Amino acid sequence: MGGAPVLRVTAQDFYDYDKCPHRVYLDHHGNPEEKLPLADFLNLLFERALLHEQDVIKDLDHIVAEGKTLEERAAVTMDLMKDGVERIYHGVLLEDDDSGIPDLLEKVDGKSKLGDYFYKPVDIKSGSGYESESKGTLRKDYGKQLFHYGKLLQQVQGYFPPGSEILNKRRERILYPLTDFAGLYAEAAPRVRALTSGEETDEPALCSDCKNCQWWGHCEEILVKVNDLTLLPGAGRDKKETLNGVGVCSIEDVAGFDFGKVKLRGIGPKTAESMPRAARVALSGKMELLRKPDLPDSAMKIYFDFEDDPTQELVYLCGLWAEPSIKGLNFYGYFCTNETGEAKMWADFQKLCTDIGSEDYVVFHYSAYEKTKLNELERKYGIQERDAVETFRNRMKDLLPVVKNSVVLPTRGYGLKELAPFIGRPYETEDAGGAQAIVWFQEYQKDPSRQDIFKKILGYNREDCLVLKAVYEWLRGL
Ligand code: SF4
Repeated sequence: MGGAPVLRVTAQDFYDYDKCPHRVYLDHHGNPEEKLPLADFLNLLFERALLHEQDVIKDLDHIVAEGKTLEERAAVTMDLMKDGVERIYHGVLLEDDDSGIPDLLEKVDGKSKLGDYFYKPVDIKSGSGYESESKGTLRKDYGKQLFHYGKLLQQVQGYFPPGSEILNKRRERILYPLTDFAGLYAEAAPRVRALTSGEETDEPALCSDCKNCQWWGHCEEILVKVNDLTLLPGAGRDKKETLNGVGVCSIEDVAGFDFGKVKLRGIGPKTAESMPRAARVALSGKMELLRKPDLPDSAMKIYFDFEDDPTQELVYLCGLWAEPSIKGLNFYGYFCTNETGEAKMWADFQKLCTDIGSEDYVVFHYSAYEKTKLNELERKYGIQERDAVETFRNRMKDLLPVVKNSVVLPTRGYGLKELAPFIGRPYETEDAGGAQAIVWFQEYQKDPSRQDIFKKILGYNREDCLVLKAVYEWLRGL
């Protein structure tokens, strides 16, 4: 093990706990040498978040809490608070077992042991600051982080700040009333503390966050060694915890367990039927056919795939592979690098819908993502060719539920990247993946003379369309 474990509970621990409790344990007690380098995509997210933070902070009067060590910075923060400065950037709040570094501490009129004022925490985020912006729901992970700062402030200034804020990507201030998160914080705190101190260790469980986690190398080795049940598609941590409670830990255990005998929390009749079947398929390595796929047919087939960059809320590529070709072309890749281009891309796509309006065609895609993005583009830019786009939308057929309803696969998931090698059409593009494509896209935005990157982005999207075609043909052959 390298270095002494860090035992103080941080606000980051509460944020990570929501995603994976095992990560909290490993961050404090794991061997740092086992950590993988940060994925390019996460590096990019951190870089963007930092640039946004610097951009916001340069327009706000503030004083930085400087110092060489955390203790020194905490002492400087305390002095600045006693002096009543309006805004402190990266102030350090330190207690015996807890620490926190809110982006900002802002002075508010009121009473505290500091005088006729107190401080509230404000964090700068490059997203919207909401769980769901349209519904106005706040994020629980942010709420718990801010509550942690509030608790530390209570120690330091003798007063718990009732409110806190997230300064979002549009520089709007989203109010987070701290008392709303007291229950969630109290519920999580004992386990977060036990994992941080090492009293509890927890276990890895395969989830969607694993692919970008620096502990994946460490955790995958353990999961594979014990043939952990979360290696089954869609199993997840909650089911693992329930099943571990009755002694079911491995895929072999799941295959041999009589699900009809006991009623288990979170395991409904559908799971009780599908899970042991998935386990038997995983152990045999052989696919099981449930029913013949129900697939539409038509003279023209279109394989459709969008690429977007959520950090910029931009759909940057709309790809279609058509057979037979449309006006002599099989592949259409509408590409843009900014919102002006996105509006044009949307107009070009609508024009294509009009051009094929009289054809007998069907559009295949994979997951609900394409329909969601289509709706977003319509909301953003309006619709000029309503009938043609409606026809296109009505002819869309999602192949993901068709796959899930037709076969049980011996793979870890049912995503295109997992399915492609299984059906004998592995991706040729190196590092293929949506997150990596965003990294390439942003590299290209920085330097549009890089035709090599442009070709890679377009080639990856074209390959997604062609893998989709291979999936359709494979399904037809079952
Ligand atoms: S790799 Fe997965 S299981 Fe392991 S710590 Fe990360 S998120 Fe948790």
